[in-house]
Amino acid sequence: MSESIESNLEAINQRVAAACAKAGRSTDDVQLIAVSKKFPADAVRGAYEAGHRVFGESRVQEAIEKVPTLPGDIDWHFIGRLQKNKVRKALPLFSTFHSVDSLSLAQAIDRIAREEGYFPRVFLQTNIADESSKTGFSRAELMEQIDTLLELERLQIVGLMTIPPPRQDPEGTRRDFAAVRELRDEIVAATGVPLPELSMGMSGDFELAIEEGSTCVRVGSAIFGQRAY
Ligand SMILES: *Cc1c(COP(=O)(O)O)cnc(C)c1O
Repeated sequence: MSESIESNLEAINQRVAAACAKAGRSTDDVQLIAVSKKFPADAVRGAYEAGHRVFGESRVQEAIEKVPTLPGDIDWHFIGRLQKNKVRKALPLFSTFHSVDSLSLAQAIDRIAREEGYFPRVFLQTNIADESSKTGFSRAELMEQIDTLLELERLQIVGLMTIPPPRQDPEGTRRDFAAVRELRDEIVAATGVPLPELSMGMSGDFELAIEEGSTCVRVGSAIFGQRAY
């Protein structure tokens, strides 16, 4: 298994580099997060031995079991839905939270980070297509709440994250990614706060995301294979 993980990882790194070249961007500006959710620690070890250091998990309980068995220099990112009652357990495990999807969750993380002594990096999850089925800030909520969010002293808010809705046409997905980038630009213009990061793109669409400015692609199945549910 680890042989195929190694070659998948190499292939993804090459595709990331090609997408960067096409977009006239430096590969240094795009981070690959290997999403290891629902894969065993051995799969992570395979990617680690191939040189990869940044991994994404979507459940706190799964991470509590996996993280301590793996090398301490792995940078773990939380990408799933975070329940407030899991924040205290999540903070020591993860450097970065991609899925902060409401003001009340941001406030809870800020409060607990103060109590526990952390300064987590945070992406604000944006529900760019206003899908009722999806969590995240709508454009209107974000514009209204951004000042309050930026005052939370313990959160290093680095940018926006999105999971676009399924679309028949990749150009629709491209427009979703572009809309998140433009929303970020609007917020930067309105607040003067730099938000350099965009967490956008998964196995099926990361090249489009890179062309539209993503700095953080979250790729799971294209590295580790299909997840068993
Ligand atoms: C599972 C997941 C991914 C990875 O998805 P793949 O299609 O397997 O690459 C990326 N982001 C989030 C938020 C996820 O939950």
